[in-house]
Amino acid sequence: MHSKNLQILAAVLFIFQIGCNSKVENTNTDQQKITLADSKKKLEAWQEGYLDIHHINTGSGDATYFIFPDGTTLLFDAGSMDKTGFEKKYAPLKATSPVPDNSKSTAEWLLTYIKNVTPKAHQDTIDYALISHFHSDHYGSLMGLGKEIPFGKIIDRNSPDLDFPVNLKTYLKDDDIFQSYLSLITNEKVSVEALEVGSKSQLHLLNDQNAFPGFSIRNIKSNATIWTGVDNTTMEYFTAEDMTSFYKGGYNENPLSLALKISYGDFDYFTGGDNTGLQGYGLPQWFDVETPIAKVVGQVEVTTLNHHGNRDATNEFFVNTLNPKVVIQQLWCSDHPGQEVYQRLIYQDKETMERDIFSTNMHPETLVTYGPWFKDNYKSLQGHIVIRVNPDGNTFMVYILNEGTMGLKNVYGPYQCN
Ligand SMILES: [Zn+2]
Ligand SMILES: [Zn+2]
Repeated sequence: MHSKNLQILAAVLFIFQIGCNSKVENTNTDQQKITLADSKKKLEAWQEGYLDIHHINTGSGDATYFIFPDGTTLLFDAGSMDKTGFEKKYAPLKATSPVPDNSKSTAEWLLTYIKNVTPKAHQDTIDYALISHFHSDHYGSLMGLGKEIPFGKIIDRNSPDLDFPVNLKTYLKDDDIFQSYLSLITNEKVSVEALEVGSKSQLHLLNDQNAFPGFSIRNIKSNATIWTGVDNTTMEYFTAEDMTSFYKGGYNENPLSLALKISYGDFDYFTGGDNTGLQGYGLPQWFDVETPIAKVVGQVEVTTLNHHGNRDATNEFFVNTLNPKVVIQQLWCSDHPGQEVYQRLIYQDKETMERDIFSTNMHPETLVTYGPWFKDNYKSLQGHIVIRVNPDGNTFMVYILNEGTMGLKNVYGPYQCN
């Protein structure tokens, strides 16, 4: 999860910055004051032509669910957390609590959510289930979910070999979640493959591709392989040995995460699991995978934060190059996000006048530490965050949903796409 170097760094880095001036007139913080009547409003149902991106707040790791313009569905991560175990191992850090509550498992809550927002015609299967990397907060609920709803195809970073940068089947032999994942993918009814880096066709619309020529998904990264930006060609950014020698025979899942760029007309969206970007501080140069990623991704309208906004990610080059209007932080720990990450995000130069930051689940202790100016620069601190891109791909909206009632807490936008 964190290397020792980074934990030391946490104590060293302490940057404090106040101030953020959003110029987006229709997205002021007053909108967060909702009334009960407002919360009874629901998000209108998905319709053909919309690209809906649901950042689901389970309080238990990451899960993002996409309904593409023709109804093709994709789940990017389905995490779960052992809150008690985590807090014991990493005390005094705190993890968030299950959301809406612990009456169901995270997998059951995810299923409830997915059934709720998916049109009936597309509810039988999740067409694509992607796992960014093999950490429980990204795939711990996948097996439970798979018992309830079939996956058309599972895509991970390393199947079928599962040997980068070490033999995962033996290295993770005592990891219950990984072992149950192996059971899932060895079922002959389940189709599983690795992400083909550089490809713009592996992930595609399955129902009516010709109707939406402006929609595409470019596979940016998996393991140490990164798209070059030219055709489908790729480069190897580091070797297995680079990583295992730095970690003295061990390895780190985070910099191996998948990354995707999803485009619809002028709208671009980036997601990259727990990819890392810190430079210096005794870290090897390859630890910064964000810089080569950012070079080929370019400007986007919306990005999620790599590694939950942890201080070892979201470097300055990444922020400046992606230059997002909207940032989605998927949080579950009291040290998410790192304060210096937050500062990089709120700092706006002349070309970066728009930047609205939304959090799925800010831990109360984070706010206790960082103070009111931290809170004031968020459009929303808690809730499901839904991006809805309009059929022309020129504009999009952000909706915040209450986790329990699925009522609409707030609406932001329209945002113009570049
Ligand atoms: Zn994570
Ligand atoms: Zn991770």
